[in-house]
Amino acid sequence: MSQYIFVTGGVCSSLGKGVAAASLGNLLESRGLSIRLIKIDPYINVDAGTMNPYQHGEVYVTDDGAETDLDLGNYERFTSAPLSRENSITTGQIYQEVIKKEREGRYLGRTVQVIPHITDEIKKRIINVGEREGVDVTIVEIGGTVGDIESIPFLEAARQFIIDFGRENVIFVHLTLVPTVSEGELKTKPTQHSVKALREIGIQPDILLCRAEKPLSEALRRKISLFTNVEFHAVISAFDIKSTIYEIPLIYSKQGLDDIVVEKLGIEKTPREQEKWKEVVDRYINARKLVRIGIVGKYTELHDSYKSVYEALYHGGIANASRVELVKIDSEELERVESVGNYFSEVDGILVPGGFGQRGIEGMIIAARFAREKGFPFFGICLGMQIMVIEFARNVLKLKDANSTEFDPKTDYPVISLLEEQIDIKRMGGTMRLGRGESRLLRGSLIHRIYGSDVIFERHRHRYEVSNIYRDAFEENGLVISGVTEDNSLVESVEWKGHPWGIGVQFHPEFNSKPVTPHPLFSSFISACMGKKQVK
Ligand code: GLN
Repeated sequence: MSQYIFVTGGVCSSLGKGVAAASLGNLLESRGLSIRLIKIDPYINVDAGTMNPYQHGEVYVTDDGAETDLDLGNYERFTSAPLSRENSITTGQIYQEVIKKEREGRYLGRTVQVIPHITDEIKKRIINVGEREGVDVTIVEIGGTVGDIESIPFLEAARQFIIDFGRENVIFVHLTLVPTVSEGELKTKPTQHSVKALREIGIQPDILLCRAEKPLSEALRRKISLFTNVEFHAVISAFDIKSTIYEIPLIYSKQGLDDIVVEKLGIEKTPREQEKWKEVVDRYINARKLVRIGIVGKYTELHDSYKSVYEALYHGGIANASRVELVKIDSEELERVESVGNYFSEVDGILVPGGFGQRGIEGMIIAARFAREKGFPFFGICLGMQIMVIEFARNVLKLKDANSTEFDPKTDYPVISLLEEQIDIKRMGGTMRLGRGESRLLRGSLIHRIYGSDVIFERHRHRYEVSNIYRDAFEENGLVISGVTEDNSLVESVEWKGHPWGIGVQFHPEFNSKPVTPHPLFSSFISACMGKKQVK
């Protein structure tokens, strides 16, 4: 039987519940436990696939092609727990399943209700992940804030775990805010109230993670303990840090968070093994060199929109003992500047991340052209690779106004298009290529050297493809088709021949990068950008 930890949030959103849950997972793994992580999103969308990155940040993709909340990315970066579509639960999925069963007559004429039918379905989904061979502890993060109407059925299901599994097998961790008011005074009242709201629905938290601007004093922790009925040593100070989120597990373990969990669950105490993680954090904090990467995209205003890309760049920095500074460049702004060279004089390399829709495309093409012509390190991911192809078609092959049919359905030169458009028959289609897929790399190419392998597996999330009609023309003129699918039917990566570092990939390597195992493409890109810096 697995044991369960529910992570809830109080007072307000965006306190970093995902990182808190991931850090807890990281700590439990450091104690030799096998863990699983689940994210519950109380919204009615069935998955995150249809959501605008400006609202919820990036759409994270799992190996099996689920489009999920970005917190799953934190889980993967902080832990080695396997993730699939089963680890992401939404209200939409739960209701869809219950309504489907109702239509099939599987409730045998009974009235279908939130309790027990919705809550049973929620529990079933959680148990399905937790009750697997070898799983010790399952951490379930409940999105939203306690008090939200939407999360009530999930909290009720969590409460029922006490009945189903016994109090000794369930832990509730509550992440809350201790705000600062005038003259830096920290206030505990909102925390008291949010714990009260939890207790009203039958949940007494075991551990409080108190977010605050600065570390909480002992007196303040005693006060919180007294008012919330949480043991003093389980009132953890989750103060703001300036270094890196990867330091958070270390901050928690210093306060004994893992000891408290292990003790409460009655798990045999194995010593903490944290050396590798500490080394990563040290390398980040002590990095002496600075590398500045220009990210040219259209969602640059919201940091979470390109979350995994930014993290993978940081990992590339860690691998090169350097600190990456992100310079976010709005691609639409690039369309208006007079001298692109001046614009890029402050950065050491350019990355164009994934995206959808026409806005900002021309600015990205300007950036790609600049990088290609000036021998500037350039990394194109998904849409970014398609941009490289469009730019090359226009400016080297001289195919006027070449484009992707996503942006210009009537273009004379559809160098990026849907497969069915290429072969001129209507097929089922228009669905996205999602999840893990195999690519074959061309020997002698830069990307082959970087991976050191003929065959690689990376995750995908795209609909449009490089048109096979133009492949020969590209190759003859210096755009190397360096990676293809196993059957050679789709282009997976391209690179500029004779360029120091110009690579585009149709897949998303950022989803496979962790601080302890930085992705080779990102490490190599950062290294190339550092070389660039020395030349300057
Ligand atoms: N919009 C492009 C496509 O659908 C690229 C997608 C992406 O960058 N994730 O193919």
